[in-house]
Amino acid sequence: MTDPLERRARLMGPNVPTFYDPPLHIVRGEGVWLWDARGRRYLDGYNNVPHVGHCHPHVVAAIARQAGVLNTHTRYMHDGVLDYIERLTGRMGHGLDQAIMVCTGSEAVDVALRMAQAATGARGLIATDNTYHGNTTAVAQLSTRRPPVGGYPDHVRLIPAPDARQPVGGTADGQAAAFGAEVARAAAELEAAGHGVAALIICPIFANEGLPCLPHGFLDPALTALRAAGGLVISDEIQPGFGRLGDVFWGHEALGFAPDIVTLGKSMGNGHPVAATVTRPEIMGAFREAFGYFNTFGGNPVSVAAADAVLDVIETEGLMENAARVGAYTLQRLNALRHPAIADIRGRGLAFAIELVGETGAPDPALANAITEEAKRRCVLINRIGRQMHILKIRPPLPFAPEHADRLADVLQSSFDTCPR
Ligand code: PMP
Repeated sequence: MTDPLERRARLMGPNVPTFYDPPLHIVRGEGVWLWDARGRRYLDGYNNVPHVGHCHPHVVAAIARQAGVLNTHTRYMHDGVLDYIERLTGRMGHGLDQAIMVCTGSEAVDVALRMAQAATGARGLIATDNTYHGNTTAVAQLSTRRPPVGGYPDHVRLIPAPDARQPVGGTADGQAAAFGAEVARAAAELEAAGHGVAALIICPIFANEGLPCLPHGFLDPALTALRAAGGLVISDEIQPGFGRLGDVFWGHEALGFAPDIVTLGKSMGNGHPVAATVTRPEIMGAFREAFGYFNTFGGNPVSVAAADAVLDVIETEGLMENAARVGAYTLQRLNALRHPAIADIRGRGLAFAIELVGETGAPDPALANAITEEAKRRCVLINRIGRQMHILKIRPPLPFAPEHADRLADVLQSSFDTCPR
């Protein structure tokens, strides 16, 4: 039999990312469960795309129903997209009343950057220095994972991301002011270089950077500096959005700020590729004037049916409330984990981070990897993040129940027990 990894490399080229070693070959999903090709069942503690549960029957039925009636490109009139935008923006406030539907988070962020540039007439962008916002040419310039060919562009300034254990500025209490000073410094540099400031883009829970659990109001000093420079703030809600945090529907509500532009994706269609950029009418107007934007598949009837069905399930099954309730229970169970390498355990709703360090207090990515692999061997899926990839990241589908939390915690403790420092 051909080695599937060799076949992937032959057909898709080298360096195609996979999770776990050896990688998993998943063939079926249901709720919080996944099955591999050998019939082994895994508890999904990691995937945020199947937001309302893998293959949720209401979403599957909505996709199938609409696919059997009509699917077209988006230059015909269709009520579905209008009804959905009305329903979506009805949950947002801050005058965020208009949306462009696209197909991926990367496209949503790409559109957001162009909106900010069109509305401000400036080019400069500020992002955090260990982030990921997507893979288009413009968006990839915000990422430090691989330097862009030709070097980093001058109109992008990366500032230190807030951190739970090594706060910007040195102290947790001073972190908000220090982060604000970083924004002010970056804005001044962009002004001096002649770019001006179009936007600051952040994930409001810094999900790809370590989930630092920041207080309400954290961004206030940063936004004062940003607005003084004429910049807009983009809230990339691709990870925290749609109720994952339990007590709030959107990540920007957790920090208590009013975004100018919001990007959505991943969980929005429960696995169907649908994403959106939401903004105020005057910013949308500037964008529509500056760019003749058209997206063949963005907001097509089937994608909209999927996204609409996701909102139905969140509401009818009380999944945001479930995220709050089961999230609190899960955090309690995780807090009881014992291992000398555990330096911090934190979470909000159904998003958790467990930070692992060595004897000197330095990040321990090897242990984080060992725990991730050991948990997978024990049929529980988690992953890792952080500047040094030393933080366990747990972010299950929203229908996570207390018994799933128990299994997750039990397997993590056994995994820790088999991986001494
Ligand atoms: N923004 C954030 C915060 C993300 O985590 C991701 C994907 N990991 C993206 C944008 C890009 O989304 P997509 O992969 O759908 O293009």
